[in-house]
Amino acid sequence: MKEQQAVNRQTYDQVMLPIYSPAEFIPVRGEGSRVWDQQGKEYIDFAGGIAVLALGHCHPALVAAVREQSEKLWHVSNIFTNEPALTLAQKLIGATFAERVFFANSGAEANEAAFKLARHYAITQHSPYKTKIIAFKQAFHGRTFFTVSVGGQAKYADGFGPKPADIIHVPFNDLEAVKAVIDEETCAVVLEPVQGEGGVTAATQEFMEGVRKLCDDNKALLVFDEVQSGMGRTGQLFSYMHYGVTPDILTTAKALGGGFPISAMLTTAEIAQAMGPGTHGTTYGGNPLACAVGNAAFDIINTKDVLDGVAKRRERIVAHLNKLNDKYGIFSEIRGMGLLIGAELDGKLQGRSKDVLQACATEGLMMLSAGANILRFTPSLIISEEEINSGMVKLEQAISHLFS
Ligand SMILES: *Cc1c(COP(=O)(O)O)cnc(C)c1O
Repeated sequence: MKEQQAVNRQTYDQVMLPIYSPAEFIPVRGEGSRVWDQQGKEYIDFAGGIAVLALGHCHPALVAAVREQSEKLWHVSNIFTNEPALTLAQKLIGATFAERVFFANSGAEANEAAFKLARHYAITQHSPYKTKIIAFKQAFHGRTFFTVSVGGQAKYADGFGPKPADIIHVPFNDLEAVKAVIDEETCAVVLEPVQGEGGVTAATQEFMEGVRKLCDDNKALLVFDEVQSGMGRTGQLFSYMHYGVTPDILTTAKALGGGFPISAMLTTAEIAQAMGPGTHGTTYGGNPLACAVGNAAFDIINTKDVLDGVAKRRERIVAHLNKLNDKYGIFSEIRGMGLLIGAELDGKLQGRSKDVLQACATEGLMMLSAGANILRFTPSLIISEEEINSGMVKLEQAISHLFS
């Protein structure tokens, strides 16, 4: 047997499929919104594992849930059901429009299920020709072949041969564009209430209401991808609640397990009945270990304290960013909802998100971008005032270095 070698960043290039270019440092430990790397250097975490770590790193309640469930039952497959899955489904139903739940392991899988459900429902309940999916430019729905095809960025979907067909992309927040293409052969309109990867753009109220009405008029299902915007990220449990516009199908993932892989698709009983035993499935989806963590995360996130705290933290972060902007003139717009914040780069930093992220890492700050021109903040929903202040000092140091 080969002896196990110590690993470092160079190892990555030798052993991993070259689809990412991770930062130069390797995190080894985290607590709240602080992380330490192999050399013991400390970082403030404004990235939150891309909107996953809603309760920060190693929250004691989640650690306890993993520990407790890991000593009881990890996996039974879908030949059996299990208590944590049923309990988590009850909680999601109790807090939303939904009446039925499907669990999977990632955002893409939840969306894959949602798109298959929308197609299957339309084909079996209406007509075999009702297959058109209307989606939006810049949208991101995951990396399976169906989900990249519904996603609105060709660079992710091209180069893999023939794509799933009958998917149309129109500009986001453009109701007239939806009106122009929607018809009785449309099975679904799919959107992120706040586009995340595509640049942190929130849907307008008028757009959300208009799309809902167009779906109703054409017997099309409205699918909300709340993989990133859900589970408290915007200050409500799901962002559709801000708009008062209810979808027919909703997907959620990222923060659902607070860092443990789990996702869910929610829908109504009427739509769910289109599916039967064998129509869809997954081996790991809804396993007791993931659902136990999901239950613990849900119980903390779905409280007034945590949800109301989101707006306060947003205000604090935006105030810091405005101050930085006054001093350096680097943002043309600060947008998004709740703790899904996008700062569009301008002036000397225009198009340079990569440089900013690298400078941040040097200063001990984990930052995120959404493309070349947007800095994205998706920290823990319970990040402390002190952690925000400390991270902002590091952000300013990083920016001042790019100016010197
Ligand atoms: C991250 C994301 C996905 C994909 O989730 P994975 O867990 O990476 O498959 C889908 N939709 C949205 C809106 C996302 O932000």
